[in-house]
Amino acid sequence: MKVKIQVIVESKNDEAPIVEELAELSRDDLTPETLGLTLDEAKNLLANLQSTMVTQQVDQYVEKQRRCTHCGKSRPRKGHHQIVYRTLFGKMKLQSPRLYTCACQQEKRQSESPIASLLPERTAPELLYLQTKWASLMSYGLTIDRLSDVLPIETNVATVYRNLHKVAQRTDNELEEERHIYIDGCPRDWGNLPRPDAPITVGIDGCYVHAREGENRKAGWFEVIVGKSITGEGDKKCFGFVNDYDSKPKRRLFEILQKQGMQMNQTITFLSDGGDTVRDLQFDLSPLAEHLLDWFHVTMRITIMRQMAKGLPNEPSQEIDKKLERIKW
Ligand SMILES: [Zn+2]
Repeated sequence: MKVKIQVIVESKNDEAPIVEELAELSRDDLTPETLGLTLDEAKNLLANLQSTMVTQQVDQYVEKQRRCTHCGKSRPRKGHHQIVYRTLFGKMKLQSPRLYTCACQQEKRQSESPIASLLPERTAPELLYLQTKWASLMSYGLTIDRLSDVLPIETNVATVYRNLHKVAQRTDNELEEERHIYIDGCPRDWGNLPRPDAPITVGIDGCYVHAREGENRKAGWFEVIVGKSITGEGDKKCFGFVNDYDSKPKRRLFEILQKQGMQMNQTITFLSDGGDTVRDLQFDLSPLAEHLLDWFHVTMRITIMRQMAKGLPNEPSQEIDKKLERIKW
C-alpha cells in the first residue's frame, strides 16, 4: 500500500491553488511497527508541512509589501538576503528581499526589509516558550536532546543558552522595585475585603553551595534560598535566588503570593529553620503572617542531641534519650 500526502494552498484571489507533495509512505506487511506513522515519518511530515506553509506565507507577505499602499506602484528591489528563523517544526531559511520606499512617499531613496522587520526575534514564540521552560528544569544539552526526540528541531546549546538568558532578563526587568514592607492599607480596609481563601503555607530553606571560578571549584561559597508556596487549594509555586546577589528577593516572593491571590486579610504560615536570611525575607509581607520553626529542622537538632547523649555513660544516656524523645513529640 502507498499513501501520498499532499498539501493544497488556496489563496483568496482567483489564482490556481498550489499543490505540493509532502510525503509518500509505503507499507507491505502489517506489523506493530508498520501500523500508522513512525516517529521519523511524523517528524519529516511536520517539517515539510511547516516549510511549505512558511514559504507560502512569506511569499504572500512579501508580494503584498512590494506594492506601495499609497499609489499601488511596484517598489523596486535593492537586493535580498536570507534569514534563519527557528520554529518548533524546523529551521526555516526565509528569503528576505530589501525594497526601496516608494518615490511617491519619499524623494530620497531609502530601503527596508519587510520580513526582517516583521520577525525581529529569530525564534518562534512557541519554540522559545518550550526551550525556556525545559532549559530552566534541566541542562541545555538535555533540553535539545529531549525536544529533538519528538520534534524536527534544529538548534544548538549556544542558542538555547542565549534565549533562556534573554527571557530571564526580561522577566527580571518586569519585577517592580524592592520595598522593605509590603503590607498595604490599614486594618479597617482589610476588614472590608472579600472573605479570603484558606491560609497559604510557605516553606523556605537555605543552603551553602561551593562557588566556581574558571577551573577553580572552590572559589568560596554562596547561599541559595529556595522555597515553595502552597495555597489551601493545593496550587504550588516554587522560587529560588542567591542571597546577597539578588537585589529584589522580597519582591520576588511577594509577586508569587500575589499571583496566588494573597489578600491582606489572609493568613500565611511561614515554615523555616529560623535563620536570619530567611526570617528577613518573610517579615512584613502580610499582617496575618505566622512564623513557625518547621518540623524537619526541629527534629534535626534533636537527632544531633540524641547522638551526643549516646557518648555519655549508660544510665544518664538512656535518661536523656527518653527526655529528648518526649521533647520531640
Ligand atoms: Zn507610492
